[in-house]
Amino acid sequence: MYDLVIKNGLVYQDKNFYPLNVCIKGEKIAALLAPDVEIEAEKVLDASGKHILPGFIDPHCHMRDPGLTQKEDFYTGTCAAAHSGITMIMPQPNTKPVPSTLDAYMEQVNAGKEKAVVDFNPIGSPLGTAEDVEQIANAGTMWFKIFEKVATYPYNTTAGTLDTHKIFEAFQNCAANGKYCSVHPFDKYFFDAAVEKVKAEGKEVTLRNVRHLWYSDEEMTGAAYQLSYYAKKAGLNWYAMHCWMPGYIDLVRMLKARGEMKIVSSCEYMPAINASDEIWDIENQKFIYINHDAAPDLDKIWEGIQDGTIDMMGSDHAPCKPEEYNPDDALHTSAGFAMLDYYGHLLVSHVNEGHYSLQRLVEITSENCAKTFGLYPRKGSNIVGTDADFTIVDMNEEWEITKDDKVYTKTQTIPYIGRKMHGKVTQTIVRGRIVMSDGVVDCEPGYGKYITVE
Ligand SMILES: [Zn+2]
Repeated sequence: MYDLVIKNGLVYQDKNFYPLNVCIKGEKIAALLAPDVEIEAEKVLDASGKHILPGFIDPHCHMRDPGLTQKEDFYTGTCAAAHSGITMIMPQPNTKPVPSTLDAYMEQVNAGKEKAVVDFNPIGSPLGTAEDVEQIANAGTMWFKIFEKVATYPYNTTAGTLDTHKIFEAFQNCAANGKYCSVHPFDKYFFDAAVEKVKAEGKEVTLRNVRHLWYSDEEMTGAAYQLSYYAKKAGLNWYAMHCWMPGYIDLVRMLKARGEMKIVSSCEYMPAINASDEIWDIENQKFIYINHDAAPDLDKIWEGIQDGTIDMMGSDHAPCKPEEYNPDDALHTSAGFAMLDYYGHLLVSHVNEGHYSLQRLVEITSENCAKTFGLYPRKGSNIVGTDADFTIVDMNEEWEITKDDKVYTKTQTIPYIGRKMHGKVTQTIVRGRIVMSDGVVDCEPGYGKYITVE
């Protein structure tokens, strides 16, 4: 007798899809049986016409917990994740406190244990001492992250630094523990120059006037080249994050071809792909202008995803309260927005839009991330005996994101209003439990587990 059987779906198995019934006992996949085999189960989920993918893992999102829970917390943030098929998240370290000591790291782990509805592993900050880095690594962080930008954040975070020597030392400390480290590559001087240029033209420093000048290929790629050299010198496993500018993608492709260093990369959904210029504020029933139209070369991104230069996708869910956006004052407005409620659906829709195959979707949302950070095959495989994490998708459903849609993010904001979608995540299953079905998340806080490499 199984606890749950998912019937009549096409199940992902080693790069292909097969008609199999998925039998679940407890938290694990107990058997994958041919459709004609009799099965007894407590509960049956009919997945006729649907694809059963290994659960999506989001390596890059911000839960704002602890310390900034007015924006988001582990419960609301992971409900938003489950809403679009994410079964595990790796929240980033710009929280309060910043997890650069073991105590601060464990505070974040405990917040997750108390509230998360999907599995999680918080990412540590390596900007403490060598001993701090070692302790956080031993506690189980999947990797470490540094923010190179501090200049235009609405608040200061010690998870960020512009000090390149400090970054190099942090790389050495991560390398000593065999951990990947990622940096959001930034060059402050390009940001400052953009502001000066706008002022010199006698214009106000509004988002409309300055944002497209801030984000350029030379700004990000220049910073990335410098970081890649430090990474190589330090013997670091380099996680090339925010890999979305053309030159940066070329750099990663070149470094992978050379084979001189261990490197993995992710493209963040926001603002790189299908940027949205406005978000809908549900409470106040109005659009907030955010000028996110500085989208880089999309063809280059699709090519990077297809040819294996870009290994993973991240949502960069970076929720802010509606009142934190101030488009008329670009130096004092929040950056980033709540992505998770629709992120998984958007990635599915891109398959039907012809940007990558369904197999490649599995690799960039689940398999590669699990393999890189030592979670495979427990996560990302759909193999018998492993965690029963699934993202079930209906590739045929056509729908539209509207102002009336429900979102789980605490910010109650929706990007991408009016976006036509083709394909939808219909169920999210975390370790054998259906946490989301047909758009409704139903799970008590604390179900999500802190997952570390065993
Ligand atoms: Zn981010």
